[in-house]
Amino acid sequence: MHKGSCLCGAVRLSVTGDLAPPSACHCTQCRKHTGHFEAGTDVLRSALTVVGEDNVTWFHTAKVRRGFCAICGSSLFFDAPHMDRIGINMGVFDTPTHVKLAMHIFVADKGDYYDITDGLPQNQQ
Ligand SMILES: [Zn+2]
Repeated sequence: MHKGSCLCGAVRLSVTGDLAPPSACHCTQCRKHTGHFEAGTDVLRSALTVVGEDNVTWFHTAKVRRGFCAICGSSLFFDAPHMDRIGINMGVFDTPTHVKLAMHIFVADKGDYYDITDGLPQNQQ
């Protein structure tokens, strides 16, 4: 069981089962939503329990929505409707995740103020 929460604790979650290795998304939208770049893991919706879901606000873009705590602003979820999985931002987890970052995506849009030097695969899109 993996447990997580937002900064203020108004939103808490738990995930059953192992987490999939997260990917880091450097697209402009994820950079703005997280303040840097987004590292997240996709979990089955059926494996996720959220307490305090009323405090989650969703920001919709063309194809996805991003969830954040309405009180403290913590960036929590990346949700593509019609998928059986939902993305959870890695910073949410309070318990050990037992996974390591697997790859970088949308590297073409990354900020100019950092370099990616971990040797992991980098996809331009
Ligand atoms: Zn909060």
